[in-house]
Amino acid sequence: MKPFTYERAASPADAAARAARVPDAKFIAGGTNLLDLMKLQIETPAHLIDVNGLDLDTIAPTGDGGLRIGALVSNTDLAADARVRRDYGLLSRALLAGASGQLRNKATTAGNLLQRTRCPYFYDTNQACNKRQPGSGCAAIGGVTRQLGIIGTSVACIATHPSDMAVAMRVLDATVETVRADGTGRRIPVAELHLLPGDTPHLETALEPGELITAVVLPPPVGGTHIYRKVRDRASYAFALVSVAAIVNADGTGRVGVGGIAPRPWRDEAADGELPRGARAVTARLLDGARPTRENAFKVTLVERTLGAVLNQAKG
Ligand code: SF4
Repeated sequence: MKPFTYERAASPADAAARAARVPDAKFIAGGTNLLDLMKLQIETPAHLIDVNGLDLDTIAPTGDGGLRIGALVSNTDLAADARVRRDYGLLSRALLAGASGQLRNKATTAGNLLQRTRCPYFYDTNQACNKRQPGSGCAAIGGVTRQLGIIGTSVACIATHPSDMAVAMRVLDATVETVRADGTGRRIPVAELHLLPGDTPHLETALEPGELITAVVLPPPVGGTHIYRKVRDRASYAFALVSVAAIVNADGTGRVGVGGIAPRPWRDEAADGELPRGARAVTARLLDGARPTRENAFKVTLVERTLGAVLNQAKG
């Protein structure tokens, strides 16, 4: 690990201002992803700003009947919250499908959204990776791609976003609240938070330098049957090959998002409209324009079959 300096932030605005002012600064909260990346020298921040002491660890109702989730609420606490389990079951189930109990105890809501890809070439500093080192190439293309993306990818990067929670947040139309370096706040829909790689895969989110996520806001509950189904190589502590997050209403309408296939939680509202016609119609719409590799073309079929199982479960 490379040497770095460290401080505790006094307030969210203070943290954002300092992060923008100090070169190569990073926020740290749970550290479940960042510390691993620092040990491997994939992330080499010169300065860490600890945001753990900030008062961002509560879940509170919003005026319109939704929920405001503090950025520092742990994944364990969020999954266990009675309101989340009752009204946003999809979110609770997605959280419990991710990582391990120990990691969920430390990992935070904002950190989960901002965790980085698990592309194996990104973690191997002997390999070319445009995300780790812009312009160096992409060793994954032409390499082992079974786990990697099939849609939303580019000739520069085919990595996927690894979060289960983010897929549920996307289906729930969540919005993040932030504070910027100048002290002003703004709201960014989760749908717009994660960028597609294009020719700049090192740019992963719409956040400005120093901008700190302070909360995630869920709109009022929409009812329906909430299902999160994750398909992976082993039963726990593994990232999704494909995951499906769905809210299905009694009349067959609803919403659907897919994880494990793209650089961001993948949802197309037009595909939601196909739900009454079944899994094949939704998949055709959702994966229109997909560019799988020979090794991961199975994910197209897996999306359809997983969605089919989800729709059957909803009927049951
Ligand atoms: Fe890096 Fe993306 Fe290529 Fe993986 S797919 S090696 S993260 S550029």
